Amino acid sequence: MSIPTLLKELQDGKTSSRALTETCLARVEALDSSLHAFLHVDKFAPERASQVDASLPLRALPIAVKDILMVEGMPATCGSKILEGFMPPFTATAVKKLQDAGAIVIGKTNTDEFAMGSSTENSAYGVTHNPWNLDRVPGGSSGGSAAAVAAGMIPAALGTDTGGSIRQPASFCGISGIKPTYGRVSRYGLAAYGSSLDSVGVLARSVADLVPLFEIMSGKDPLDATSVETEYIPPRQIRGTRIGIPAEYFIKGIQAEVARAVQEAIETLKKLGAEIIPINLPHTEYALPVYYILAPAEASANLARYDGIRYTPREDGKTLQEVYRQTRGKRFGEEVKRRIMLGTYALSAGYYDAYYGQAQKVRTLIRQDFDEAFKKVDAIAAPIAPTTAFEIGSHGDDPLAMYLEDIFTLPANLAGIPGLALPVGFDGDKMPIGMQLMGAPFSEALLFGIGNAYQKATDWHEMKPKEK
Ligand code: GLN
Repeated sequence: MSIPTLLKELQDGKTSSRALTETCLARVEALDSSLHAFLHVDKFAPERASQVDASLPLRALPIAVKDILMVEGMPATCGSKILEGFMPPFTATAVKKLQDAGAIVIGKTNTDEFAMGSSTENSAYGVTHNPWNLDRVPGGSSGGSAAAVAAGMIPAALGTDTGGSIRQPASFCGISGIKPTYGRVSRYGLAAYGSSLDSVGVLARSVADLVPLFEIMSGKDPLDATSVETEYIPPRQIRGTRIGIPAEYFIKGIQAEVARAVQEAIETLKKLGAEIIPINLPHTEYALPVYYILAPAEASANLARYDGIRYTPREDGKTLQEVYRQTRGKRFGEEVKRRIMLGTYALSAGYYDAYYGQAQKVRTLIRQDFDEAFKKVDAIAAPIAPTTAFEIGSHGDDPLAMYLEDIFTLPANLAGIPGLALPVGFDGDKMPIGMQLMGAPFSEALLFGIGNAYQKATDWHEMKPKEK
């Protein structure tokens, strides 16, 4: 059932809150031994659901939350051994707003350690498997959330997107996802990775399912100074909407089936009345090097707090220095350490101007590309990832190969603009293909309008993986 239908059923008493949550837990129980989407499941969720006030807008709707967002009463590991057993004393604002509207959090989903990765292979607690093919990754870092939704364990799940971590797993798992405008959803209670890039969003089967959660999560939060209040403008008709197609996103090396499926989706938008306009985003090729300077730089500062003193757990040492060294040395994973070193280097005296300062300037150019484009078009349609979901282990020890997966998602984070992921087809191996719609800051409603029109005309979002 779609979320609007589920909410209606709950309202009319046709579905009981308790039974719905029990159904979700039963699905998790049945499927998660092979998928490993969850790091924590709350067996008392049905109890809590039965106590929810049925007049609230989300009426006991079960949701899952990426284990990088704090939920009081549930452990928060961020996919890291450095937070093993940590119990946060508060709840992230985005989650709190949904809970206050009646949503029931049934558990925490797997993530690459501190959201650094594109496959969940960097989780210290093991990889999540793609429900469409268990040998493939679900994407990352919000791969647990994407797999949980795609496998029908939960109607919707929260994720975070610093460089693609909502859109890419949505694409790999054949579902929809919204990466909001930077600042539209509070980051309070999100373990910071790249603070100027991080955004909290939702993954669900369809656009119609994303909207009710997104509307409730958004808005100014006194606990996050970068959050903003903006009016929610209802979507308008797709007819006459100008959609830009950036040449830089259809490059050599992209899987032919991905390019073809995205082109077909663009044709569908045209048939629905959109005006298709070729555009250029000339600085696109610099997004990858710029991101992989700025994100590690911010991460190196943000992750300094995990010192074995402030949070559990702690490794022993004779001196304070040794406690730091032992705790950070033993409990951070390889990728996290790599990024702390890269970031510290980029920020160090003598290299700051050459790397960090330079990257910030190029970031402005990337942002200006979009500003220019949005004078000519209302939205931009492009592939999300150059390939469909790859095999677990196939990127082995090659961090650069993994970073390349992000080339099409990073620009939206660098520019702070929203991105909506939609399923648009399958490749020859029956793996899902996604397309993203990017818009000017705060144009989520417009993107939802286009996405909704597309999903009314197609049924990719209704496809479900086979169960063994
Ligand atoms: N894959 C990118 C990275 O590793 C993006 C991750 C994210 O959006 N959290 O940094």
